[in-house]
Amino acid sequence: MIILIAFLFGSIVGSFLNVCIYRLPRGESVVAPRSRCPGCGKPIRAWDNIPILSFLILRGRCRDCGQPIAWRYPLVEGLTGILFALTVAHYGPTALAASLLPFVAALVVIAFVDLDHQLIPNVITLPGIPLGLLAGLAVGGPPILDRILGALTGAGFLYLVLLYGGVLYGQDAMGEGDLNLMALVGAFLGWKAVAVTLLVGCLSGSLAGLTLIALRRLGRREHMPFGPFLALGALISLYWGDALVAWYAGHLR
Ligand SMILES: [Zn+2]
Repeated sequence: MIILIAFLFGSIVGSFLNVCIYRLPRGESVVAPRSRCPGCGKPIRAWDNIPILSFLILRGRCRDCGQPIAWRYPLVEGLTGILFALTVAHYGPTALAASLLPFVAALVVIAFVDLDHQLIPNVITLPGIPLGLLAGLAVGGPPILDRILGALTGAGFLYLVLLYGGVLYGQDAMGEGDLNLMALVGAFLGWKAVAVTLLVGCLSGSLAGLTLIALRRLGRREHMPFGPFLALGALISLYWGDALVAWYAGHLR
């Protein structure tokens, strides 16, 4: 029941995240004005703005002009719902879970903004870092020193890659935004999760890059955003990090 509520709450938040993903990089307010159809400019009615359901009822078209609604909108709503449900399923209905939901929402916005614009908005990462560190004092989870160490190692590792990794990943494969994102991940999840995030992020990013190059969808010199892969790594370490670390430690023995 609580997991279903978390899903529904997440899909409503996801509806707001869609607005953030579109408006934040354009420097527009995320509060006003109300959402409009990009086709005909008519404001979207409240009852046509129910997450996922409205898209299905309207069969993916605007009620006024019949223009297709991007499938991205219900996808982000469903994804946020699933991630919120997973967070509550994993951490229980606790203060720790509540502190992680904004972090998960931030990861969704960062991943899609980076996909669209090859940029990670500082307006999300920079205020999030102190919030993550403070959560260590308030709600449990990784202790604050663990989080500080995580923020430093996350950003520090990418800084080294940025300095010396031009050889490995090509020119400006990563930017300052990725550094701030890793500091955010460290602040919320601690240093062990940073290691898992970097590992999963680099592996999945390289795999996706090589696949796209093989399919000739991406030129060798073209830029591929790294943020979505770091976000994926952070989510995997959020839900399965402990299991991965335990499995790895078991293999060391
Ligand atoms: Zn319309």
